[in-house]
Amino acid sequence: MVINQTLTFSTRGNGHLIDVTSQVSGILADSGIRNGILTVFVVGSTAAITTFEYEPGLIKDMTELYDKLAPVNKHYAHDATWGDANGFSHVRAALQGPSLTIPFEDGSLYLGTWQQIVLADFDNRPRQRSIVVNIIGE
Ligand code: ZN
Repeated sequence: MVINQTLTFSTRGNGHLIDVTSQVSGILADSGIRNGILTVFVVGSTAAITTFEYEPGLIKDMTELYDKLAPVNKHYAHDATWGDANGFSHVRAALQGPSLTIPFEDGSLYLGTWQQIVLADFDNRPRQRSIVVNIIGE
């Protein structure tokens, strides 16, 4: 059995990190599928999906790491292509990746207690983001 559903989030952009675990788990619960894999995919080339312990300290740590890896105030060739000044957003999104696969059993995702599913919006402005949740199982 396969289920395909979309979630929509309004973000602030600029590195906004959003815990989407409860919404994703809700889709699994409603599906009635007991065993299989679930994938989470964000549409767009300036956002990413990752997992970490969603608490203020780590949110700060991750934000600092993204700033270090792809600083805002640096020249990016992409900015010359479109003039949209978000080269750093694309680089961060490409490094982090757009999706996550999580196995589940007896209707429960194999997530650790301190392991949340996080949407990262790296664009330089607020966005409406679509996350596609695919569930394959029985
Ligand atoms: Zn761009």
